[in-house]
Amino acid sequence: MRSHLLNDTTTEHYRRSVTEGVERVAAKLAATDRPFTGVTVDDLAPRIDAIDLDQPLRDTTAVLDELEDVYLRDAVYFHHPRYLAHLNCPVVIPAVLGEAVLSAVNSSLDTWDQSAGGTLIERKLIDWTATRIGLGPAADGVFTSGGTQSNLQALLLAREETKTDELTKLRVFASEVSHFSVQKSAKLLGLGPDAVVVVPVDHDKRMQTVALARELERCTEAGLIPMAVVATAGTTDFGSIDPLPEIAGLCEQYGAWMHVDAAYGCGLLASRKYRHRIDGIEHADSVTVDYHKSFFQPVSSSAVLVRDAATLRHATYHAEYLNPRRMVTERIPNQVDKSLQTTRRFDALKLWMTLRVMGADGIGALFDEVCDLAAEGWKLLAADPRFDVVVEPSLSTLVFRYVPAAVTDPAEIDRANLYARKALFASGDAVVAGTKVSGRHYLKFTLLNPETTTADITAVLDLIAGHAEQYLGESLDRAC
Ligand SMILES: *Cc1c(COP(=O)(O)O)cnc(C)c1O
Repeated sequence: MRSHLLNDTTTEHYRRSVTEGVERVAAKLAATDRPFTGVTVDDLAPRIDAIDLDQPLRDTTAVLDELEDVYLRDAVYFHHPRYLAHLNCPVVIPAVLGEAVLSAVNSSLDTWDQSAGGTLIERKLIDWTATRIGLGPAADGVFTSGGTQSNLQALLLAREETKTDELTKLRVFASEVSHFSVQKSAKLLGLGPDAVVVVPVDHDKRMQTVALARELERCTEAGLIPMAVVATAGTTDFGSIDPLPEIAGLCEQYGAWMHVDAAYGCGLLASRKYRHRIDGIEHADSVTVDYHKSFFQPVSSSAVLVRDAATLRHATYHAEYLNPRRMVTERIPNQVDKSLQTTRRFDALKLWMTLRVMGADGIGALFDEVCDLAAEGWKLLAADPRFDVVVEPSLSTLVFRYVPAAVTDPAEIDRANLYARKALFASGDAVVAGTKVSGRHYLKFTLLNPETTTADITAVLDLIAGHAEQYLGESLDRAC
C-alpha cells in the first residue's frame, strides 16, 4: 500500500496515474458533443449503489473505467458552448495546471510553517486584487471557499465594527435580488429574524437608492443600528449592478459598513472595456470576489478583501499548537489569523498561474467576449416576438420567457416554460437555468463561455420554443 503514497520513491507511479487520468479527461472533452446526456437520478443511482466500497478494484485503469460509468460519461460539462445555465465557467488551462501542482504539494495556507512561499503568493494576489479595486494602502484580505463564505466573513467584520452586543438592533440592507447568503449570514451571526431589510429594485434590477435612503432613515429614527449595506455588483439572476457611488454616499452618511458582493461582477476588474461599470467599488469597506465565476478558475477560488487590514482581527484567535501570539511580534505571516478556515487549500496558485501565463488582460478579454455575446443575445430576444426578455444585460445574463401570442393565461405560459427547461435538460442538447420575475417563471442564460456564439443562442431559443409549443399543443389536446 505504501506504493500509493506520493514521495521520492513513487514518482513514476504518480506520473503514470495522473497522466492516465489526464488522458481520459482529454479524450472525454474531445468527444463531448452535448453538455449533458440527460441521465436521470433513477438511471444513475443504481450504478453507484452497486459499488461495494469495501471491495477495492486496486488497479487505476479499472477504477478509471468504472469512473467513466458512474461520473465522466454523464457529468454536466461546463466547457460545452451550449451549457448556458448557472454561474459556472469553462476553466483556463494554466489554472488546471495550478490545481494539479497545489494538490500534489498539498500546502496548507493556515500557517507559514505549512506553506512558506504559498503564503506570500496568496498575499501578493490579495494585494493585486485590492489594487485593482482601488481599496487603498491599508487593504488586505484572504482567499475563501466561495462567495458565501466571503459574504459571511465580511458581515462578521461589519457586525464587530458596530461595537454593540445588542444584536437584535442591527440591520443589514440588501436588495430584493441580492444573494441568499446575506440572509444565511445574518442568521449565522445571531442577528434577529428582521435583520435583513430588503430594498426594492428599479426596472433594471438595481437597488433603488431612494428607497435605501428611506429605509436607513427609518432604521435610525427607530433607534436601530445600520450595520451594513450589501451592494451587489452583478446579481446572480440578472447580472445587474447596484449604483455603487450613491450607495457609498449613503453608507458614509449613516455610518454603515459598505460591502460589495462582486462574486459575479469581479471579472470586470480585469476588463479594459467594461471596468467602468463597477466604478464606485473602491469606496467599499469589504468586497467579495469569486474568481471561480468570472476569472475562469476551477472551483474553489474566491476571496474577501477589506479596506482596513485591522478589521480582520475580528477573525483572529491564537492557539499554542498553531499560531501563538508571539509569532505576530516575530513577524511570521500566518494567514489563519485572517481566515474563518484553518486547514486551507492553496487555491491562490491557480490564479497565480493564470496571471503569469495569460495576464489580466487575457482574462478580461474573455469576460468582455461573454458580455458582448449577452448584448447580442439581448438584441435577438428583443426582436423575437416569441419571447419576453427582462433586463438589458450589464454583465452576461439574459432572463426571458416564451410567450406565445395565442396563449393568454400566464399560469399556462409558466407551465410551458417550466416544461421547456425540463425537456431541454432531459434531451441534453443544452442546459439553461430558470428563475421567477414578478411571480412568473422565466428562463435564464448565464453566458460565461467565450466559445458560445449567437448561432448557439438562436439554436437554443428554437429548441426552447419547440419544447414549449409541444407542451401547449399537448395541453390543448388534453383540454379537448
Ligand atoms: C454565486 C454568488 C454568491 C455565492 O458564491 P459561492 O461561491 O457560490 O459561495 C454570492 N453572491 C453572488 C452575487 C453570487 O452570484
